Amino acid sequence: MDWDYDVIIVGGGGAGLAAALMAHKEGARCMIVEADGRLGGATAQSGGVFYACGTSVQRAAGIMDDTPDDLYDYLMTLNQWQLRPDLIRYYADHCGAALEWLIELGSEFPKEWLVKSGVDTVARGHSSQGAGSGIADALINAAGAKGIDTALGSRVEEILFEDGRVVGIRAAGAELRAPTVVITSGGFGNNPEMLRRLYPSACHEGWTWAVHKDVPYVLGDGITLAEKLGAGVVGHDTGLVLPTSGFSKSLEAFLPPWIIAVNKEGRRFMSELSPYSVCGYLLNAQTERKAWAIFDEQALVEASTNTKYLDPYNAGISIPTWEEPTLRAQVAAGRVKVADSLAALADQVGIDGAALAQTVARYNADCDAGGDFQFFKKAPAYFPIRRGPFYAVEIRAAIIGLTAAGLDIDRQARVLDAHQQPIPGLYAAGEVLGCFHGARYGGGGLSIGNAVVFGRLAGTEAARAALAEQVETGVAA
Ligand SMILES: Cc1cc2nc3c(=O)[nH]c(=O)nc-3n(C[C@H](O)[C@H](O)[C@H](O)COP(=O)(O)OP(=O)(O)OC[C@H]3O[C@@H](n4cnc5c(N)ncnc54)[C@H](O)[C@@H]3O)c2cc1C
Repeated sequence: MDWDYDVIIVGGGGAGLAAALMAHKEGARCMIVEADGRLGGATAQSGGVFYACGTSVQRAAGIMDDTPDDLYDYLMTLNQWQLRPDLIRYYADHCGAALEWLIELGSEFPKEWLVKSGVDTVARGHSSQGAGSGIADALINAAGAKGIDTALGSRVEEILFEDGRVVGIRAAGAELRAPTVVITSGGFGNNPEMLRRLYPSACHEGWTWAVHKDVPYVLGDGITLAEKLGAGVVGHDTGLVLPTSGFSKSLEAFLPPWIIAVNKEGRRFMSELSPYSVCGYLLNAQTERKAWAIFDEQALVEASTNTKYLDPYNAGISIPTWEEPTLRAQVAAGRVKVADSLAALADQVGIDGAALAQTVARYNADCDAGGDFQFFKKAPAYFPIRRGPFYAVEIRAAIIGLTAAGLDIDRQARVLDAHQQPIPGLYAAGEVLGCFHGARYGGGGLSIGNAVVFGRLAGTEAARAALAEQVETGVAA
């Protein structure tokens, strides 16, 4: 058979670029087909944190003993061992090398920017200089330097399948033939229909949006294309959701420390400073999948515009959503509820007033004693809720940080069908996968990590399979 390429890559974000570079290294002729007018995908728009252990950056920061065994145990335990051990082990063993490879390509991860990005005790979140573009640009430049072919503005609409195997793709009406195709089309955060089907717990009518909103083709195409070939879809209803007031599509990531969050039963249910990687799940677990941020006039005036009280992580972050002018405007718009008494406020928003009074009394007593002795929130200062007017802001977990339902792969990144058999010639990596993250996001950097680690694997494996087949059939590469 005449092939145009050895490996065709569907989507030129972090996973696709990593796959292309590794396929090229193996000696394969490869082509990246990208729907958007530019390469980079969500990877380029991201915060650029990469989760890895045993790296030169950690060692430079004095972390000498972080091992793949530790990372493996952490991720597996966090998800109650309901993750794919083979894939997590592969990640643990290869994330360090993947990060060093990015550094060789030109990405920079200053040791001062290492963060504890999960709920583990070791700093494994490697923050890239230039955020996501610092990673994407290094990959794009390397692909350019190697002369890897790319077709931009070409949305793949079909994966060609003949005689029981993948033989190429169709994009913009044209066919390209190759013995292997790697799907690296990213997640589906911008596709409401797919969200309802594969990530229903993130769907809040009128609220939900994805941080991928500026990456137009994060629509789950890779899942749709592979499903037509019988691919299994796994990881139903998993991903990462972040809390929001729903006022606007601006990334909030964490709640302000000077509020309390109460549920319909009038009870607090978490430290309001719980990490972004758990806060959304906790919110979604409440009655009607929502809660209310409660505060009084003094907190609104004193705390909401003062970064000293707003920025518990000293990250220089202010959240405009929670500043006084925005909140006043939202009172006027009717989205923030206000009342002269807590009982009236509880009535207005439909929460248990008697329980709210108890909750607030307990919280106020804690504030007077200088702490939060219920959830041990480590706030820069505690604001009791004492003098009206009192305010309530509805909060929900409705910002999608990533989607984690999608394709299933084996340890060689081959896409599996519904019976766990590899679909010949089809590979996948990155956010299009549904078999990596599990129900509980392990920590910031795991999604770019997934893209680069499994992108590298998929590119290598696809290239080797394509080249081996050509040797067998006597077709020159
Ligand atoms: C604002 C933001 C901040 C984030 N911060 C972090 C972070 O700090 N750390 C972290 O780990 N994760 C972060 N994430 C998530 C992370 O960026 C992504 O999960 C990861 O980069 C996905 O990589 P990918 O290569 O799988 O997909 P992408 O990088 O999204 O690339 C997919 C590409 O496929 C293309 N495509 C889609 N369909 C088709 C088609 N039919 N034909 C051709 N091309 C197609 C898309 O246009 C896109 O370019 C963040 C995401 C966002 C949006």
